[in-house]
Amino acid sequence: MTTLEQQAGERLDKIRAQELARYLLELGLAEAGRVVYQDREYLNLAGNDYLGLAADRDLVAAFYNQLNEQTLLARFGPGATGSRLMTGNHEVNRELEEGLSRLYAPGRVLVFNSGYHANIGILPALAKKGDLILADKLCHASLIDGMRLSRARVVRYPHLDYERLATLLAEKRKHYGQVFIVTESIFSMDGDTTDLGRLARLKEKFQAVLYVDEAHAVGLRGRQGLGLAEEQGVMDTVDLLVGTFGKAWAGQGAFVICSQVLREYLLNTSRSFIFTTGLPPVSLSWLLFVLEKIPEMTRQRRQVRQLADGLRTGLQEHGLQTGGSSHIVPVLIGAADFAVRVADTLRTQGFWVTAVRPPTVPAGTARLRLSLTAVMDWENLAPLPRLIAEAMEMRA
Ligand code: PLP
Repeated sequence: MTTLEQQAGERLDKIRAQELARYLLELGLAEAGRVVYQDREYLNLAGNDYLGLAADRDLVAAFYNQLNEQTLLARFGPGATGSRLMTGNHEVNRELEEGLSRLYAPGRVLVFNSGYHANIGILPALAKKGDLILADKLCHASLIDGMRLSRARVVRYPHLDYERLATLLAEKRKHYGQVFIVTESIFSMDGDTTDLGRLARLKEKFQAVLYVDEAHAVGLRGRQGLGLAEEQGVMDTVDLLVGTFGKAWAGQGAFVICSQVLREYLLNTSRSFIFTTGLPPVSLSWLLFVLEKIPEMTRQRRQVRQLADGLRTGLQEHGLQTGGSSHIVPVLIGAADFAVRVADTLRTQGFWVTAVRPPTVPAGTARLRLSLTAVMDWENLAPLPRLIAEAMEMRA
C-alpha cells in the first residue's frame, strides 16, 4: 500500500517535471513599485498594488500616526475576536460599510474577509438546484469554486462571447428558476474588459441576475475609482458587484453591493461570511483611511492608463503578442517551461516578472502577466518590450 506521502510525492514529481511547480519566495516591499528579493531591488511587474499605496511610506506613516492610547484597541486592534455575527463586528465595520454605501449605494454593502470568501460564499447562498449559472470561461478560480459549491447547473460560455451567451439564454432561460450571468469586469490574466452594458441588456431581456467581480477594476476605473460598472454607467443594473481590497486598496477584504434584501439574506446564509473570524480593526481602519483618498486619485488612474498604453504599443512594435486594454498587460509565450525561462531572464535584468502557467491559464497559453502601478515611470518600462523579445529569442 502506498502512503499518502508517497502518493503526494509522486504527484509533486509530475508537477515539477511539467515546470508547473510553485514556490514560496520571501519578498520585501520597496517604494516606487519595487520589491526586494535577497537584497536586490526589482521593478515589481507581478503585484496587484495598482495605485502604489502599499509601499507609500508617507501614507502608511500618516495612517499609523492616528495610533494613540484611545485608538489602540478600537481602531488598531489586531484581532476581531469572533465572527461578525458573534463578537467580531465593531464600529469600524459599520463605518466602512457606511463609507462604501455613500460611494456606491445606500445601505446595500456587505464586507467579506476576502474576495475568495465573497466569491465562494455568495453563489452557493443564492443559486439553488433548478437554477442556472452562465459564467465566462475565464472567470477567476474563486468564482469557479463558488459555482462548484452551489447546487445550480453551471455552463461556461466562451470568453466575452456575448452572442453565445445570448443563444444560451434564449435556449435555456425558460427551463430554470433563476439564471445568473457571472463575469469579471477586468479579467485577471488577460487584462481585457467586459462590455457590461451588453450584459446588462441581456440580463434585462432574459430576467437574469448579473454578478460582476470587479477585483481588478476597483480603485482604477470610473470617475471615482468605483470600477468598470461606474465607468460604463451600469452600476444600477449590476445585481451583485464584488470589489476586493487586496489589490488597488492595498489592504485585505472584499465587499458586495446588492439590494438590501440580498444583503440581509447573505449575512444570514452565506457560509463564508458566517463561519469565519471577522477582519481585525486595524485592517478595517486602513480601508477607511484609504476610502477617503481613492475617489480623488484621478491622476494615478490616468498614469496607469498611459503606462499601459505605452507598454502595449512597445510590445506590438517588437512583434510580441499582447492583448487587453487595462493595466494588466499579458505577453503570450505558449509553453509553460518557455515562459518560466523568459521570466527568469527578465529577473536577472531587474524585472520581477512571473510566468502564469496552467492550470491558472489554459494549456499552451502560458504568459507573462505584467501588471502596472501608478508609481512607476515610463523610463522604468521603456526597455521592457525589447528585453522580452531578446529573452524569447535567446531562451527559445
Ligand atoms: N476575484 C478575482 C478576479 C481575483 O483576481 C482575485 C484574486 O486574485 C479574487 C477574486 C480573490 O480576492 P482576494 O485576494 O481578496 O481573496
